[in-house]
Amino acid sequence: MADVTDAPIFDPIAFRLDGEQADLIARVRQLAAERFAPRAAQHDREASFPTENYRDLRAAGLLAICIPRAHGGLGADYRTYALAAAEIARYCGATALTWNMHVGSTLWAGALADDLDMDASTRAEHARRRALHFRRIVADGAIYAQPFSEGNASAVGSIPFGTVATPVDGGWRVTGRKVFASLSGHAAYYGVLCTEVAADARASRRNTAYLAIPANAAGVSVTGEWDPLGMRGTVSRTLEFANVFAEHDAALMPRGLYFQSALRWPHMFLLLTPTYLGLAQAAYDFTVSYLRRGRRGSVVKQLVVAEMRIKLEQTKALWFQAISEAHVDPTPEQRLRAYAAQFTTMETANDLARLAIRTCGGHSMLRSLPLERIYRDSRCGSLMAPWTAEVCLERIGHGALYNEGETDT
Ligand SMILES: Cc1cc2nc3c(=O)[nH]c(=O)nc-3n(C[C@H](O)[C@H](O)[C@H](O)COP(=O)(O)OP(=O)(O)OC[C@H]3O[C@@H](n4cnc5c(N)ncnc54)[C@H](O)[C@@H]3O)c2cc1C
Repeated sequence: MADVTDAPIFDPIAFRLDGEQADLIARVRQLAAERFAPRAAQHDREASFPTENYRDLRAAGLLAICIPRAHGGLGADYRTYALAAAEIARYCGATALTWNMHVGSTLWAGALADDLDMDASTRAEHARRRALHFRRIVADGAIYAQPFSEGNASAVGSIPFGTVATPVDGGWRVTGRKVFASLSGHAAYYGVLCTEVAADARASRRNTAYLAIPANAAGVSVTGEWDPLGMRGTVSRTLEFANVFAEHDAALMPRGLYFQSALRWPHMFLLLTPTYLGLAQAAYDFTVSYLRRGRRGSVVKQLVVAEMRIKLEQTKALWFQAISEAHVDPTPEQRLRAYAAQFTTMETANDLARLAIRTCGGHSMLRSLPLERIYRDSRCGSLMAPWTAEVCLERIGHGALYNEGETDT
C-alpha cells in the first residue's frame, strides 16, 4: 500500500520548514516508499536485517545525514533528521528504528556534544576522535549501533551500567553483556555505554564511557535467538564482550560527557519517537486508503476514522513542538513536554493500529497487507528505554508537583 504520492507527514508550508529541509525529507520519503516498503514484509517474516536498505541509505548519503558538511555529511540538524526518520517508518519501522541507533551515534558525538561543557584540550581531543568516526561512516559506509540495555535498571539511568571498562595501556578492556542490541551482527561498530572503573574505584554513573567497539574485535560475540513479536528486522540480539580491547580513540564522547548530556540534553532520548510517529501515520494512511476502496459508507467506520484523525493530529502537534524545542538546558516545562511527547507518541502509535484493525476488519489483518505488521511493530515503542511509558508518567507526575531538588522534609 506504499504510494510515492503520499503527502509528507508534516506539510512544509503549514509547519514552516525551509526549502532545504523539505527537499531532504521528500527524498527520504521517496526512497522509503519506493525501495523499503516492498522489502518490509519479507524482513518482517524472516526476522532478517534490511541490508539492501542500508546500501540505499549509504548511496543516498543518508548514513551521514547528521554529520557536518565539513566532514562530508549532509549536515542535517536534530529536527530535520527526526522528520526524515518518521517518513522512513511509514514504510519500514525496523529500518527507521535501526537507522536511529546509527544516526543517534553521530548526533550525540556531534551537535549535542558541541553544546556541552568541556575544557579546551578535551574539546580538541574529542573533535579529533569524532572525525575518525565520521570518516569511517562517510568513506567506508560503517554502520554504528547503540547497545545500552542490560536487562537491569542501568538503561533508564537508575544504576551504573554493569558493562565495565577497565583502563589499560592504550585504552580499556571491556567486559559485559548487552541485550536487545539492534543491528547486532550487522553494524561495524557497537557504541557501548559502560562504566569506567579503575581497580580500586567504585562504579558511578558519572563515569559512564561511550565506546565504539569494532564488531570484529576479539572477544565480541552475538548470541541468542531473535524471534520477537514486532520490529523483527531490527535483529536485536544479545552482545557479549569478553575482555575486549578498545583503544582510546574508540571514545565517542569524552569521560563524563554522556552523564552530562543525559542531564542537560534530555531530548537526546526523544530520538526513538520518530519511528513511532511514522507508524502512527502509517496506521491512519492505511485505514483511509483501505476504506476508500468501497468500504467507506458506514457511519460507524467514519466515526472511527475521525477519532483516529484527532489522535493523530494531537500527537503530531505535541511531537512537532517537542522536537522543535530540543536544545541544551531545556526549561522544566520543556522537559515535561518531552516526556509527554514520548508517552503520547509511543502509546498512540499502537492505539491507532488497534483502531485501524477494529474498523477495517478481518481482511485488514491478512499478512499480505502491512497493517498487522504496523500493529506489532508499534507495540514495541513504549518499552524502549530509557523513557518507557511508566518512566515518563513517573517523571511528569513528580516534575509537576515538585520543583527540582524539592522534597517534603
Ligand atoms: C525491538 C526492540 C529493539 C531494541 N533495541 C535496542 C537497542 O538498539 N539498544 C538498546 O540499548 N536497547 C534496545 N532495546 C531495549 C529497550 O530499550 C529496553 O531496554 C527493553 O525493552 C527492556 O526490556 P526488559 O525486559 O528489561 O523490561 P523492563 O525494563 O523490566 O520493562 C518492563 C516494564 O517495567 C517498567 N520499568 C522498567 N524500569 C523502570 C523504572 N526504573 N521505573 C519505572 N518503570 C520501569 C517499564 O516501563 C515496563 O513497563 C530494544 C527493545 C526492543 C523491543
